[in-house]
Amino acid sequence: MKFQGISYALCMERNTRQRAAIRDAIAQAQRPLLPQEVLDAAQREVPGLGIATVYRNLKALVEEGELQPVNLPGENVRYESVGHHHHHHFQCTQCQRVFDVHACPGDLSRLAPPGFTVEDHDLTLYGRCLECGTGRPGHPSRRATG
Ligand SMILES: [Zn+2]
Ligand SMILES: [Zn+2]
Repeated sequence: MKFQGISYALCMERNTRQRAAIRDAIAQAQRPLLPQEVLDAAQREVPGLGIATVYRNLKALVEEGELQPVNLPGENVRYESVGHHHHHHFQCTQCQRVFDVHACPGDLSRLAPPGFTVEDHDLTLYGRCLECGTGRPGHPSRRATG
């Protein structure tokens, strides 16, 4: 039926735009994003986008191998693009945002107890990001807006 065909096409078109906006939000941020941060950014492209749609698309993009979850202790899951190799993260204690750290201390075997074998490591740095700065007078912290 012609009418159903048209509405299906419109629906697919809408889904494609939603997914593209969600993918772009993470690609442009170049850091791991919370679903809420993805929503805030993607809503600029697709007004009316809902958090449930964001969750559904994030899950699908992980299953399709485009995104990977970032699990920091005590934090909600964030999402980043796959494809960067071994890297670490920095969390700002002021604005709570998480950034990529493209440096690694290398082999940490010496930190393990004698006789133990280190197979992998995970490292998160905590502090203040560039925007939150040091909080010194005369250097007001600049907040990201809309
Ligand atoms: Zn910050
Ligand atoms: Zn490392």
